[in-house]
Amino acid sequence: GVTPNGIFEIIERQASQHPDAVALLFGSRAWTWTELRARILRLAGALRAEGVTEGDRIAFLDKNHPACLETTFAASLLGAAHAVVNFRLSPEELAYVIDDTTAEILIVGEEFASSVEAIRSELPKLRRIVVLGGDQDEYEALVAAGTPLSERHHASADDCFLQLYTSGTTGWPKGAMLSQAGLAAHSEALLPAYKMDESTVNLVAMPLFHVGGTSWAIGGMYAGGRTIIARDAVPADLLKLIKDEQVTHAFFVPALIQMLLAQPDLVEATKSLHVIGYGGSPMPAPLMEKTLATLDTPLYSVYGMTEMSGVFCVLGPDDHRDPERAHLRASAGRPLPGSDVRVVDPSSGKDAALGEVGEFWVKSPQVMLGYWNKPDASAESIVGGWLRTGDAGRMDEDGYLYIEDRVKDMVITGGENVYPAEVERVLIQHPAVAEVAVIGLPDRKWGETVHAIVTPESGSEPEASELIAYARQRLAHYKCPTGITFVDALPRNPTGKILKRDLKAKFG
Ligand code: ATP
Ligand code: MG
Repeated sequence: GVTPNGIFEIIERQASQHPDAVALLFGSRAWTWTELRARILRLAGALRAEGVTEGDRIAFLDKNHPACLETTFAASLLGAAHAVVNFRLSPEELAYVIDDTTAEILIVGEEFASSVEAIRSELPKLRRIVVLGGDQDEYEALVAAGTPLSERHHASADDCFLQLYTSGTTGWPKGAMLSQAGLAAHSEALLPAYKMDESTVNLVAMPLFHVGGTSWAIGGMYAGGRTIIARDAVPADLLKLIKDEQVTHAFFVPALIQMLLAQPDLVEATKSLHVIGYGGSPMPAPLMEKTLATLDTPLYSVYGMTEMSGVFCVLGPDDHRDPERAHLRASAGRPLPGSDVRVVDPSSGKDAALGEVGEFWVKSPQVMLGYWNKPDASAESIVGGWLRTGDAGRMDEDGYLYIEDRVKDMVITGGENVYPAEVERVLIQHPAVAEVAVIGLPDRKWGETVHAIVTPESGSEPEASELIAYARQRLAHYKCPTGITFVDALPRNPTGKILKRDLKAKFG
């Protein structure tokens, strides 16, 4: 639960019980719990002096840096919210998101200062920019000069202290307002599963602007463990860090696992790992098999989203390696304690029959408070306390979830629902197909029609008619593409998710 000190209790507790233990490690620098506590209180005092007050946003833009976590905790003490911005955004998206936060103060890493300067005229709400790093480290100066905050905000369950943006896969990124109670519930639900405790050495390899970075980091701190922050997810550097610091817990996205598997010293370097978590996007089956064959490390597949303060379904190590139930490897696992999942038929709004595909709805203390400044989107997303995840899938009789596709990407053709992922799984097996994305195109007769965008395998020049015939041998007629467009590459976001909205805009 949340005490009046809120999430800062994590720091208070460790600072009193293990004052000299190392809390955070970043490059060649380390901070004990006592130092971290003092820095957060001074930062909070400095931000208060800058005029930050309850309900305000503080924006942050940098690659991974301990300052990001310090600011999150400082915001919680002020009743303000830390809005962390994705450093990989285009200039146009960056201007949109920074402006959307409504923050008057932006903490920006030295290497992104010029990107912000270039869009400065589009950021009228911004009053103060604090540059982090470099010779004139303004952030360090702020912390050094800050008077420790004396009057702390009295935390309550519905305070937003962390505003993380969704990945923008289906539209513009949305600011999910996360609560201290939500992140506490996330940690409480996950730590027993991951067996995290004070001996945990937790590697934060994923970006802190994403819930997969921040909620993982907060989980390790909640357990009282040591947090190792990697600035960049460079595979060779990560392996060195794991080996040097004897890391016990790490979380990666499947794309990063793929890169790690190509490292020659992977097995040797990861001997200290007790847990590898992965998720955020689908893990292709061949990559899963290769990972299982290469590593003995217990694997945890997780399903989560920004709106859920992190993860709410886990597939544990035993389920990964059960030869009798190999089909489970395609599952996103079972809901964590505290999260109830329903499968709802998107057309009728009623619960789908067991095993049928529908939209996952979740009720949980982890659910966000809403989307920042988007009352309509919030009301659409949270219905009677249930979060509509936007993901379609099914649940088996043992409660395991199988993610099928995004509801938004579902194609309705002649009244029939088609999930593009099913069609993609078939087409990708054709030897001439390297990558494929299936979308719905407007159609006068059928409402929508199924269309495939294909990148051919190099050296292959498949015919559209051949691929359509291939699909027709394997799928119901209405699910088969009626047209194929060949392209050189599919548009993807930085985490590797295919941007179907771009494809629909281009070919629709
Ligand atoms: P936006 O909401 O802005 O369109 P997004 O949904 O990609 O973007 P995130 O919150 O970063 O933003 O991602 C959550 C989504 O990622 C989930 O809704 C789901 O579609 C997908 N996802 C997460 N974990 C998994 C997983 N283990 N397997 C497959 N898909 C996953
Ligand atoms: Mg989403």
